[in-house]
Amino acid sequence: MRILLLGGTGEARALAARLHPDCDIVSSLAGRVPDPALPVGPVRVGGFGGVDGLRQWLRANDIGAVVDATHPFAATMTAHAAQACAELGVPYLVLSRPAWDPAGTVQVASDVEAADHIAEKGFSRVLLTTGRSGVRPFAGSDAWFLIRVVTPPDAEVLPRNHEVVLSRGPYGYDDESALLRDNRIDVLVTKNSGGALTEAKLAAARDLGITVVMIDRPPLPAGVTAVGTVDEAAAWVERL
Ligand code: NAP
Repeated sequence: MRILLLGGTGEARALAARLHPDCDIVSSLAGRVPDPALPVGPVRVGGFGGVDGLRQWLRANDIGAVVDATHPFAATMTAHAAQACAELGVPYLVLSRPAWDPAGTVQVASDVEAADHIAEKGFSRVLLTTGRSGVRPFAGSDAWFLIRVVTPPDAEVLPRNHEVVLSRGPYGYDDESALLRDNRIDVLVTKNSGGALTEAKLAAARDLGITVVMIDRPPLPAGVTAVGTVDEAAAWVERL
């Protein structure tokens, strides 16, 4: 049985390493990052062309099961995969790392709500870690932004006052504390991505008394089976 592994995360790479070469897997990346960290085993790159394209691709490539280990905020890919698999009767599993505990943070439903909160409360120095696609709602803000991203955002979405830092985690507590202090940050904006690799910023902000605005995860499609760890996903594949 050939398994499609929807990736772009550390968990997807870890699962590929667990399954390859014993299982016939193919990993899929969206192709947004010019120099992506590649999983072991066969990899395809680029969108499928919506639900119809994905359905055709699954049939043409004789896929017997799909593990969706995309980022918890990759909601469109997950919606498409859930629908295509349901229509074809292909077993489908979501591997979604556990969310962070939002206690003590300002929880918002979207990046737009996060931008509204920054404006309402008059924050002036923002560490923005919502990714290149999460910058646009802040474009009209008067605050200063330190924008930490893997790939640069388009120029037209950037707020007036900003500095872009290109980097990829993991980040440690001491470096995160220094970044927040040195840049006199008064609010951190983050998605509730979960996972250990980028979690240190939360403890550093808490210890420095800096407000954290945390964007809730989009809900999973109704009725899908989801697990939180690579071990559980590997066990699901082995059971198939
Ligand atoms: P998205 O909004 O859910 O998906 C938009 C479109 O990108 C999909 O409809 C699909 O195009 C294509 N796509 C997304 N993931 C794909 C994959 N693994 N393989 C092939 N095509 C894919 O996705 P996104 O939030 O932009 O994320 C894109 C990629 O970056 C994902 O692989 C995700 O795991 C990774 N990532 C995302 C975030 C985040 O915060 N969103 C953070 C870290 C990593 P078609 O409709 O043409 O099939």
